[in-house]
Amino acid sequence: MTARLFPLRQAVSALATPLPRVLRPRRALPNEAVRPTRAEINLAALRHNLRVVQRATRSPVWCVLKADGYGHGAKAVARTLERAGARGICVALLEEAIELREAGIKLPILVMGGYYGGAWGEILRHDLTPVVYDAAQVEALADEVRFTGGEPVRVHLKVDTGMARLGVTPAEMQGVLREVLRRPEVVLEGLMTHFACAESSETASVEHQLELFDEATQITTDMGLSPSVRHAANSAAIFRCPRSHLDAVRPGLSLFGVEPGPGIAPDLRPAMRMRTEVVALRDLSPGDSAGYGSTWTARRPSRIATIPLGYADGLSRALSNKGHVLVRGRRAPIVGAISMDLTMVDVTDLPGVELRDEAVAIGSQRGPLGADEIKVSELAHELGTIPWEVLTNVSRRVPRFYREP
Ligand SMILES: *Cc1c(COP(=O)(O)O)cnc(C)c1O
Repeated sequence: MTARLFPLRQAVSALATPLPRVLRPRRALPNEAVRPTRAEINLAALRHNLRVVQRATRSPVWCVLKADGYGHGAKAVARTLERAGARGICVALLEEAIELREAGIKLPILVMGGYYGGAWGEILRHDLTPVVYDAAQVEALADEVRFTGGEPVRVHLKVDTGMARLGVTPAEMQGVLREVLRRPEVVLEGLMTHFACAESSETASVEHQLELFDEATQITTDMGLSPSVRHAANSAAIFRCPRSHLDAVRPGLSLFGVEPGPGIAPDLRPAMRMRTEVVALRDLSPGDSAGYGSTWTARRPSRIATIPLGYADGLSRALSNKGHVLVRGRRAPIVGAISMDLTMVDVTDLPGVELRDEAVAIGSQRGPLGADEIKVSELAHELGTIPWEVLTNVSRRVPRFYREP
């Protein structure tokens, strides 16, 4: 039965979808939240961090909001930063750019990933600025503009000065630029590059990449093209290397209040707080164990609190028997293996813990027993990873609640 229906269904869907379809993932919504687990996003902290970046440079700030605004929710973050004086937005994916346009964002949106899957029409329809790095992209884009009869499209050319990831190398530049010159439908507005080692206190690598970027600029102007926006600086470069600011800067991590390296921009304010509440309490006797694999055993009479937050929410399982959460303003050690949806913490040394007490996995808490903070950078260090990964691991089943302080 199904087998006979199948070819028909395929034929129908082939007719119905002439263009590549851009799918968007859906995140848990605040009003659908049943459990008390959520990520609170402080919009005032975002505005503060934008001001910190603005004070560090005279160049316009293009906010990098890829990966759903580093896990904070790109739409709300973009609306907040647009009103606060951001001059542009950068994302990695075409899907991310369309989401922001459809949410009413008016700022220029730069699509940095360079992967368009043939959906050139979407770029034009949503007035996006694509990053390109080869002649075929310029040609396809120009053909699309000619086909739709619209205005010329502005593009930024990505130059590979040392990442060996994406971008045209200075040696290949003339070929791509010749294609740009040949096609009036495409206007070279920007030239960009990306640093490999901006977080390092050793600046030689950034200096070298800037020299190569200057050479690439020279090649461009020698061919009679004059891109008006040259940009390179990520968060670390903004605070470490003023020479990298050029005509625009591209901060990501620092906007969310996380320092990109030790001692860089210490007056940032964390924008995310991940919190939940104690949903169960039990008293264990010495010798009792907790969790999958019984990896933790009580050595003393112990009080264990269970919180509805697990590795599927973004609390890495590598924090089992290692990490902490804050309860009543103090640290409670995570005990046993973190499970998909639940985690146990030892609250034996925290008097007075009750059901529904708040537990904080990321961010600060003030309570009857004190005040403390679990920083994203601390978690990253403990996990042997980087803050970017900790933030983007907060999964889409955790609703984001936006608040002014
Ligand atoms: C992610 C990204 C940035 C922002 O980097 P941060 O270190 O988070 O400030 C800037 N430019 C490009 C090309 C990126 O991919």
